[in-house]
Amino acid sequence: MGYEYDDQNIFAKILRGEIPCDKVLETEHSLAFRDIRPQAPVHVLVIPKGAYVTHDHFALEASDAEIADFTRALGQVCKLLGVQPGEGGSGYRLISNSGDDGVQEVPHLHVHIMSGRMLGRMVSPG
Ligand code: 5GP
Repeated sequence: MGYEYDDQNIFAKILRGEIPCDKVLETEHSLAFRDIRPQAPVHVLVIPKGAYVTHDHFALEASDAEIADFTRALGQVCKLLGVQPGEGGSGYRLISNSGDDGVQEVPHLHVHIMSGRMLGRMVSPG
């Protein structure tokens, strides 16, 4: 079946500069910005600039350069936010909701970085 990318999704508009964002980091292939409806004191979204819908789409089809850049960007954002447990930060959680069961709202790959409070169990009981 494959993925069809909707270039009218809100993150595509942010990438094109049609909608503003509170930028945290920009690299050659990635962009990080604060979530508009934060669910924790620290809530940042990291997205690739390429047209990828989900993490599996990206992991299977992105170039090595894009994957390396995105992975490094996640680390750089954690460092900028001061949340690295190994550096005295209070820790964080990465979440990448995908598809219906994952309750993905925006169909452009994004990883949530959340921190600043105890985040509770990994998923709510079914
Ligand atoms: P999802 O449920 O797809 O994993 O999460 C999408 C996230 O995007 C939500 O946390 C939502 O608050 C955030 N979001 C939706 N629209 C915008 C926007 O226009 N700007 C920003 N910064 N975040 C948005």
